[in-house]
Amino acid sequence: MELNGYFIFIAITVIGFYLLDVFSNLLNLKALKPELPSEFGDVFDAEKYAQSQAYTRTTTKFGLLESTFSLIVFLLFWWLGGFQWLDQWVRGFGQGPIVTGLLFVTVLILASQLLSLPFNLYDTFVIEETFGFNKMTPKTFAADLVKNLILSAVLGLPLFALLLYLFENPTFQSSAWVVAWVVTTLFQLFLLFIYPKWILPMFNKFEPLEDGELKSAIESMAARCEFPLTGVFEMDGSKRSTKSNAYFAGFGKNKKIALFDTLIKKHTVPELVAVLAHEIGHFKKKHIVKSLVLGILQMGLIFYLLGLFMNNRGLFDAFGVEQTSVYLSFIFFSFLLSPLSKLISVGMAIFSRKNEFEADAYAAEVTGTSDHLISALKALSKDNLSNLTPHPFYVFINYSHPPMLERITALRAL
Ligand SMILES: [Zn+2]
Repeated sequence: MELNGYFIFIAITVIGFYLLDVFSNLLNLKALKPELPSEFGDVFDAEKYAQSQAYTRTTTKFGLLESTFSLIVFLLFWWLGGFQWLDQWVRGFGQGPIVTGLLFVTVLILASQLLSLPFNLYDTFVIEETFGFNKMTPKTFAADLVKNLILSAVLGLPLFALLLYLFENPTFQSSAWVVAWVVTTLFQLFLLFIYPKWILPMFNKFEPLEDGELKSAIESMAARCEFPLTGVFEMDGSKRSTKSNAYFAGFGKNKKIALFDTLIKKHTVPELVAVLAHEIGHFKKKHIVKSLVLGILQMGLIFYLLGLFMNNRGLFDAFGVEQTSVYLSFIFFSFLLSPLSKLISVGMAIFSRKNEFEADAYAAEVTGTSDHLISALKALSKDNLSNLTPHPFYVFINYSHPPMLERITALRAL
């Protein structure tokens, strides 16, 4: 291992981001105020409020424990020469560069899954269980794990093999990044297409809404929004958790709006219509297309930069690996990229929070009132034990949705 500029840069960013995470979490814990914000006085009582704060404390501390553990494991693996050792081991099978690369990432992913397994088990069966959220049986937990592994292997490995081929092949040379970008973009569009149709049903049941008050209220609202209603489904979210949610997936004729059964059970029809109007707002304001385009542009930038650092001797020295390779270039480059990735993710979170305000405003406009969305948001905060007073710095870095109080305040101001 050589203590060169790359080594120092990556060590500083890895440790620096860890410290930033600790710092923002500590701020968040300090921001837990003993008095309930008056806005929530009608839904939270003292006991519920205390419970929501206990939930934030427990999950925050557990998250910090996990990230400390991951940091230590990563630094030990890196500084004790783990990358060189693993590289020699996979090369020992005597396969070509693509198969060797696939082996390398498979081992790395399986190892990281194995290390995070005890944390996931504790989170689900102890923390979520204690707070009354968990509905998952060990069988569902195991099935999810296996399905996720198979899916990432079936979808991820062929794409990675193709990318390795592009950067290995001398015909592409300096244009490899462009071809890789195009291929990955097409792959991403393909995923978006199959996600609601094939992938989501592997994990949950989707039943079309039954005829009745809710369905007709939703249909008349969709008609008012001139929104082609291709599918609104009730999803069995209660299979895993009592937490409730709603989301929008897919595009074109394949789009799907999913309302969790837990959401339907706990909300009034006007509240559910307001939640759905919010989801339609994301579609009408083109948030989904805009995020997709931004994602594609980022990918182009990342592949361009990757091309510049392909088989970079200094980078391999920093990780103590003797033979350069395309597959390890991908992995080492991702560490080099992490400050830029962090900037991008903070930028995307800002963009996403702005979109949430827009979708809220849209829902208030088409339903003619802010009241139902406000009462839905309050009920959601209570049922999901949301942190009502997150620290602004923590929100700035991590939140894809504005804090509930900010959303309600904005809705009241309309
Ligand atoms: Zn939203």
